[in-house]
Amino acid sequence: MKKTALVAGAGGFIGGHLVKRLKKEGYWVRGVDLKHHEFSPTKADDFVIGDLRDAATCNKVMDRAFDEVYQLAADMGGAGFIFTGENDAAVLHNSATINLNMLEVAKNMNIKKIFYSSSACMYPKYNQEDPDNPKCSEDSAYPADPESEYGWEKLFSEHLYMSYNKNHGTSVRVARFHNIFGVEGTWIGGREKAPAALCRKVAEAKDGGTIEVWGDGKQTRSFLYVTECVEGVRRLMESDFMGPVNIGSDEMIAVNDLAKMIIKISGKNVRIKNIEGPTGIRGRNSDNRLIREKLGWAPSYSLKTGLEKTYPWVEARVKTSRLAIQTR
Ligand code: NAD
Repeated sequence: MKKTALVAGAGGFIGGHLVKRLKKEGYWVRGVDLKHHEFSPTKADDFVIGDLRDAATCNKVMDRAFDEVYQLAADMGGAGFIFTGENDAAVLHNSATINLNMLEVAKNMNIKKIFYSSSACMYPKYNQEDPDNPKCSEDSAYPADPESEYGWEKLFSEHLYMSYNKNHGTSVRVARFHNIFGVEGTWIGGREKAPAALCRKVAEAKDGGTIEVWGDGKQTRSFLYVTECVEGVRRLMESDFMGPVNIGSDEMIAVNDLAKMIIKISGKNVRIKNIEGPTGIRGRNSDNRLIREKLGWAPSYSLKTGLEKTYPWVEARVKTSRLAIQTR
């Protein structure tokens, strides 16, 4: 019998890659999202357009005891979306409602296992003030003090998943993703994250030109290529460990150095101008000790290799959109 999986958020970046991976593994897959995937036709056997804030949609898509449910749907974006404060009520309301609905229906339908994508944004800001020495071990989450409302919602939902496990026996898996990037991710429009945004700015820049980078550029982060993220999700799902566990790279880099790496890949001569902008916490890096201990595996894909795939993909989108404007 084929295993069955439901991917919520299948029209999004990581969900799209996860659907491809599950299909390669031989699953029967249903995807659900508010929208179709922007960049490639879905490989899912069935794709439902629907709003998971509506419990009726959750009932409709979870009409059978799926072997696995992957809950990736969220109202989210990069720093320009979650750190400005302008979207806070929507982020809290929309994502929490999706998780409340999904879990309740999963419990009623005896779903065998449900995965939840939390985020490193739930870690307290007081541990991330030193860009060279951030602390993001799983046990450093409390006392809680996430920097954004997005992080608070992730923390609340982690508790929700763990409580359904405790009180209803729902089998849950919870991962905290750290900055996932790669091809077929949002690269324009305000929700894009730093790697895609910087790839776009470099691709748009003239040789000898300048790109703007938010903040002083000394803020640090780590970035994980999307296929490694999906590998981690699958390994967690197959294991007996519930989490929460970090899924991220521990190759920490300052944002200006990230920009320089992209510029080098582009082959252009481009200068960096640091300007004021929403930057979030000063430093963040994935602590991979727990994932190594529990899964005997940790991401190892280098940032440079991931960017060498991502830059040409974004550059091709920039060129296509320029052509479209010229021919209008
Ligand atoms: P994404 O925005 O590309 O995908 C999320 C999808 O959820 C979108 O396609 C969106 O349309 C869908 N969605 C939103 N509201 C919905 C609703 N009401 N009903 C149905 N679908 C809805 O984001 P992503 O980068 O693929 O992230 C997937 C998950 O991983 C999210 O939960 C996100 O918070 C989490 N995460 C991502 C990162 C990252 O770096 N990309 C980091 C930490 C956590």
